[in-house]
Amino acid sequence: MPVVPFGQPINVKAWDLFRTRTGLPVVIDAAAAFDSITAGEAPVVVSLHATKVIGAGEGGFVMSKDLALIHGIRTRANFGFDGTREAVHPAINAKLSEYHAAVALAALDEWNEARREWMAVAQSYRAVLPNSNTIRLQDGFGQNWIASTCLVSLQNSNAARAEAALAQAGIETRRWWGQGAHAHRATAGFPRASAPVTEQLARSTLGLPLYRDLESEQVRRIVDIVVQASRG
Ligand SMILES: *Cc1c(COP(=O)(O)O)cnc(C)c1O
Repeated sequence: MPVVPFGQPINVKAWDLFRTRTGLPVVIDAAAAFDSITAGEAPVVVSLHATKVIGAGEGGFVMSKDLALIHGIRTRANFGFDGTREAVHPAINAKLSEYHAAVALAALDEWNEARREWMAVAQSYRAVLPNSNTIRLQDGFGQNWIASTCLVSLQNSNAARAEAALAQAGIETRRWWGQGAHAHRATAGFPRASAPVTEQLARSTLGLPLYRDLESEQVRRIVDIVVQASRG
């Protein structure tokens, strides 16, 4: 289950190739990637939760160029009905509610305008973040693609320091994984190998405020605090 991290595009074709070569099933978690993901053969799951770049409130959709697969998913999301009123597959009722579908249609109607607004806020982050190899936004964020999270990577410093400085200024941030799943109470007891990449990401990654009407002065203030904190 490859993840499209915070909407940053991955190579879907390469995963189709992996699926063909190994015979292993692949499901792509593209929950945050409404704007950036393209369909391949492997099913791509996109979230329509209220926290995403386009929101229906709750729910999501599956994309694939494999029409038989899509037919199977439709059938299994609708009581296992396959052209008749008889349940012929193990299934659930996973249909998007009428209400959520209506909200999603309204969101689609204003998508071009919404996307422009999201991009403008992302670009104001790009405009004030100093060109640096120690503070980086995700590749292409606010340039080729947009999502509803603004992730900053603080290479030499630590995300905790920026988090504390921002909190002191009354600005909320997100550490998406805490210290990593291996440090969570539910999974801490499981046997595991060392996870240096996870730990490095957990130390260096911080989610900054991002919403459509965030103003450029507010963005500047946030970035000033992050830069200050990262200088120690
Ligand atoms: C938001 C998100 C989810 C959860 O999506 P829901 O629609 O809330 O279930 C899962 N994976 C990633 C990568 C996400 O960004």
